[in-house]
Amino acid sequence: MILLCNFGLDMSKKPINIGVIGVGHLGIHHVKHYKNIPSLNLIGIYDTNITRSEYVAKKYKTKVFHSLENLIKNVDGLSIVTPTPMHFEIAKLCIKNKKHVFIEKPITVTLKEADILLRLGKKQSVIIQVGHIERLNPALLVLKPYKINPKFIEIQRLAPYTIRGSDVPVVLDKMIHDIDILLSLVKSPVSSVQATGISIITNSVDIAHARIHFENGTVASLMSSRIAQGDIRKIKIFQKNLYSTIDLLRGITEIYKIEKTKYSNENILETATFDRNGKKRYIKYMKPNIKKYDALKLELINFVNSIEGQDEPIVNGQAGRDALAIALRIQKMIQKDIV
Ligand code: NAD
Repeated sequence: MILLCNFGLDMSKKPINIGVIGVGHLGIHHVKHYKNIPSLNLIGIYDTNITRSEYVAKKYKTKVFHSLENLIKNVDGLSIVTPTPMHFEIAKLCIKNKKHVFIEKPITVTLKEADILLRLGKKQSVIIQVGHIERLNPALLVLKPYKINPKFIEIQRLAPYTIRGSDVPVVLDKMIHDIDILLSLVKSPVSSVQATGISIITNSVDIAHARIHFENGTVASLMSSRIAQGDIRKIKIFQKNLYSTIDLLRGITEIYKIEKTKYSNENILETATFDRNGKKRYIKYMKPNIKKYDALKLELINFVNSIEGQDEPIVNGQAGRDALAIALRIQKMIQKDIV
């Protein structure tokens, strides 16, 4: 059973030892958070760019390792925050040495690589966690008390162009976040995928649209673009007697729920009524209070707690592999049309 959201820390145990591999744009934030999580020791960092690793080590008062093997030897678990093509070989080495790994998303470049890591992880009894950070977005987590069983989901992720991440198609850089969210919300196998996309600025796909059908009848529409005017990250969920909009960027979740009874509750802001088949129904509008927090820090606490056996990864290796499988299926379909 997943002890979700156990974000407290057990200070009574011996601290675990952690290392970070790759301290670029995102890796530096892993270092910053590990440095501030009291139940662990940040042992050091390794990056092939020595200037960068020395800068990060000085800033966060940690040690630079000049050999990857040496860092691995000295820790219990590692964050792998290198460019995606390096995830596989580095994770394989860590896991072979019986070390727990937090791999930034996407887990690997190919499914074959992901499967090898999952098999190896099982054999070595280590935690594999994947950095699909949006799963910890407070605007999404606030839906937990509601029975979410979507019939139709629409997810939009639009962002202005930046060079970062543009070396991979938008499906693997951006849409994969939404695929992971989608697979966590719909508990049914995917039955079919349709997709279309185009390259506008880069040599790979910049805008993609996918329609995903699930065996239980749920249909999802995903739209991702990296050449939009502004940032939008929104989810709309439609199901029997419930409609919800989630603004992942602004941290706002709104829920409209149809109920048979009128009741008042401080969380219900407005109630409207209508008649369905001669029976009165109440539409309740709720806008839960959302506490802002740093989702990356929570992911890393979840990793540490999982290593200590007090929790399970919110996004485990299998989930990372499942999101990659759908992303690659979409990408293959789009590529076929483009070429
Ligand atoms: P980056 O290029 O800024 O940093 C990568 C770092 O890895 C660099 O410092 C580089 O020198 C180092 N590096 C390269 N090869 C190495 C090797 N073999 N061993 C050790 N270090 C090596 O990239 P980034 O933007 O920080 O992205 C890193 C990873 O994080 C990617 O997989 C990316 O997809 C992922 N990412 C995830 C999110 C998210 O929302 N979860 C956001 C951004 C990036």
